[in-house]
Amino acid sequence: MARPDRDLAGLAALFVGDPDDRFDVVEVFTGTPVAQVPRADSGHVAAAFERARAAQQGWVALPVQQRLRIFERFHALVLAHHEEIVDVIQIETGKARRMAFEELCDLPILTSHYLRRAPRLLRPRRRPGAIPGITSAVELRKPLGVVGVISPWNFPFAIAFCDAIPALMAGNAVVVKPDPHTPLSAALGLRLLSQAGLPRDVVQLVCGDGAADGPVAGPAVVDAADFVMFTGSLATGREVAARAARRMVPSCLELGGKNPMIVLPDADLDAVVASAVLGVFGNAGQLCLHMERLLVHAEVYDDFRDRFAARVRRLRLGADYGLDTEMGALANPAHLARVAGLVDEAVAAGATALAGGRARPDLGPTFYEPTILEGVTPEMRVHREEIFGPVACLHRVDSVDEAIRLANDTEYGLNASVWTADPAAAMRIAERLDTGHVNVNDSAPLGYATKSAPSGGAKASGLGVRNGDEGLLKFTYPTTVATLKKQVLAAGEDDPYGDFVRRTVTSLRWMRRLRLR
Ligand code: NAD
Repeated sequence: MARPDRDLAGLAALFVGDPDDRFDVVEVFTGTPVAQVPRADSGHVAAAFERARAAQQGWVALPVQQRLRIFERFHALVLAHHEEIVDVIQIETGKARRMAFEELCDLPILTSHYLRRAPRLLRPRRRPGAIPGITSAVELRKPLGVVGVISPWNFPFAIAFCDAIPALMAGNAVVVKPDPHTPLSAALGLRLLSQAGLPRDVVQLVCGDGAADGPVAGPAVVDAADFVMFTGSLATGREVAARAARRMVPSCLELGGKNPMIVLPDADLDAVVASAVLGVFGNAGQLCLHMERLLVHAEVYDDFRDRFAARVRRLRLGADYGLDTEMGALANPAHLARVAGLVDEAVAAGATALAGGRARPDLGPTFYEPTILEGVTPEMRVHREEIFGPVACLHRVDSVDEAIRLANDTEYGLNASVWTADPAAAMRIAERLDTGHVNVNDSAPLGYATKSAPSGGAKASGLGVRNGDEGLLKFTYPTTVATLKKQVLAAGEDDPYGDFVRRTVTSLRWMRRLRLR
């Protein structure tokens, strides 16, 4: 199917960078260059921050309701332009169209949540004063300034803006630095925000990593931002957090996972198989939340393995811009080589591929078959490292305790899935899993899709959260305005201090007894 005809050059032109030094964006299905994006060096990034900083002054001065009206229009525009958005996402990621559509839906869901919640979170809140009756307190929430968003290639539309939207609602300006493989989806998001009425320069786009001398724009963003919102790998996250900390600038890190799915004997296996196809192979496994380790109880292991493998062998792959394809390509040749290398190594060391286990150059340059490995042992890299590809490792477990022990035996702690007909048993397991999300009777995205609750990683999967109230409040700082009506308790100049001590002890005792403070 032919590549959709979209204004990719116009999107590339939205980046701040050197018009004489451009890098190629390729159509993943064919490897053909489709746009050239101006590369940003540290000077361009500094200029982008300067413009954003100037624009933020006017933006924060607008009443919250006026800012929110722009996001009301943005919500409608994203839905009205869903075909165009899905085309652009697909061109530069090579993902299946169904997954590109599901990616797109994240932003209307998130925007709608914060349209409801932001007015309450951002308005001044009365707090009980230090001393009842004679003091009062109000908590103000102020934007931090300019937020730097550094986003990865796997969900280039959603992740470029899922944090930027609450940051903007709170009155910040934002500089977005997408991954150099996938800058155009972010540019389309900015175009729609501008059409919705976002004032000029409040959002800036820069991109430049991928230069021969290593990342440039990303570190420059960390060096200029008032808050760093990073989504990507653990290795880069460590560098970003350390760099931000040197400037005493806060950062939020959404990193990788090695997510376990636990299947108990009373689970509905048809539902498990159907959901695991998405939970393992959705986005060709290039999803931080996807399930890499399937821990299946011995009582149902053989049955599950056979049904799952049969379904996975039937998955429809293709370089296709239509809705019938179930799985697309991997994002780029280097990533394909890494995934293939991990599987080959495991098979050479004794693992068995029940499905897949090979690249599909007949479909396109970066296709890899959905793969199920059995017989994976702890020495194999597939067992420990985040694969981030269409590969599931199947393990037979004899008890809930064994499943939980294996599930927690990783440095990561992002996501988990538990399948059982017994909600109380699921809750007991969830309490023992060291992960930021536990999805009961769903394989991957349910916790993340719950916008009212925080979403983040435990252990090495991240610091901080997105979604929920914290997902907006983290882009603000509090100012507590405390007012004293009358000086009554302080010791007078000539009063014996011992009287003040007695008065204070009595007051504290009574305030506790009356539950006043
Ligand atoms: P990556 O760390 O290589 O790159 C992420 C971003 O950081 C890119 O924009 C990149 O250009 C930039 N970057 C690279 N080096 C930098 C540096 N030194 N300083 C600042 N920025 C730099 O990650 P990736 O391979 O693109 O993404 C895949 C990873 O992202 C996986 O580990 C996946 O699990 C994780 N991820 C996590 C979440 C989440 O919400 N937890 C979501 C999506 C992806």
